[in-house]
Amino acid sequence: MNTTSAQAIVAATARREVAATPTTAATVPVTRADFDTLMVQCYAPASFVPVRGEGSRVWDQSGRMYIDFASGVAVTALGHCHPALIRAITDQACTLWHVSNWFTNEPALRLAKRLIEHTFAERVFFCNSGAEANEAALKLARRHAHDKYGEKKYRVISTLNSFHGRTLFTVTAGGQAKYASGFGPNPAGITHIPYNDVAALEQVFAESGAEICAVLLEPLQGEGGMTPATPEFLDAARRLTKAHDALLILDEVQSGMGRTGRLFAHEWAGITPDVMATAKGLGGGFPVGAVLATEEIGSAMTPGSHGSTFGGNPLATAVGNAVLDVVLAPGFLDHVAAMGLRLKQRLAGLKDEHGGIIEEIRGQGLMLGLKCKVPNQALLQSLAAERMLTVQAGDNVVRLLPPLIVGEAEIDEACAKIEAACVALETQARVEA
Ligand code: PLP
Repeated sequence: MNTTSAQAIVAATARREVAATPTTAATVPVTRADFDTLMVQCYAPASFVPVRGEGSRVWDQSGRMYIDFASGVAVTALGHCHPALIRAITDQACTLWHVSNWFTNEPALRLAKRLIEHTFAERVFFCNSGAEANEAALKLARRHAHDKYGEKKYRVISTLNSFHGRTLFTVTAGGQAKYASGFGPNPAGITHIPYNDVAALEQVFAESGAEICAVLLEPLQGEGGMTPATPEFLDAARRLTKAHDALLILDEVQSGMGRTGRLFAHEWAGITPDVMATAKGLGGGFPVGAVLATEEIGSAMTPGSHGSTFGGNPLATAVGNAVLDVVLAPGFLDHVAAMGLRLKQRLAGLKDEHGGIIEEIRGQGLMLGLKCKVPNQALLQSLAAERMLTVQAGDNVVRLLPPLIVGEAEIDEACAKIEAACVALETQARVEA
């Protein structure tokens, strides 16, 4: 054997030994830089990696602590590692994880019963995300109209700046071309009108009411810029859909599960939808979504017409039940409303003092937005430097979505950080001037 082949054998053996060394997830070191080489680059995450959370706080790999006013974009509604959720998922993990929809399961039936008890709904369909919930809601509306009125009643009216998810149907229904372009051909039959424009809604119904199967709306636009629907717009949507045998679908994926101080945001307006999508806070961090509908509309779906392998999974719905236990406990929604008011009042004061940074305070309850005068990314980064997590939104807005369990002291602490972030930006501007 020559030297070269002997060396090759030694190298190959060494490689096999390395490969045979057992690795577990815990022994694989990872850093933020790995994201850029390993992951599909459809996100641009922050420069640090959160590793642990508790209540309104998270810690990164370097042990730095942040106050979390992002809540995973309104998902960790009860904060991180809430004891009731830990109990629920641990108990369920020791009992039954998954059975598929060829069998039903107790946690899913319990969650459906309770969602029905506390809303307009009479039927529930479970899925795993907000996009899936809206996708199912739109398919339900199309199928209902198709079966009852014929195939020409298929048009969906949606609003500009809305966000409904990333499936091809929901991204097309969403009112932001930047998310929907480049994936075509997109589903047809969707018309966008300006949000809160009653005249535009009346006009589209006057022109093609017989063809419209549904109006899809967020009662408070989140991703688009934290803009609440006016009561007049919601009233008009309810009135016109009813008059034209169309459905009102409300997307409460972000605004629901107590975020505005009512279980669902539309309750403030005194209207009820025919169909509603919810997700995010419903699982408190465990993926779950739901479509809620009246009995008549729900009956449009029959066995085989729609489905989802994981939808209504016992683990997800057990956690959903635990979230509901907390959110429906006496006084909890009042707490959300009170904390929302406190935060909004403090923010109004900050806007008055730092009008060069903050232009307007938007939103309701603990779903608030700072419309910025400077680029929202600048404020977002200045807040991160103060160790405060927030999220951006469209229309140059920074979203504040603290966990619903947030307390007065944490709100005051967060406002002090916002103040410091504004001062830092003002100082920087003076230095650069
Ligand atoms: N609808 C609304 C109002 C949302 O805010 C979102 C997500 O931000 C979605 C739908 C999509 O939800 P998911 O990302 O869980 O699919």
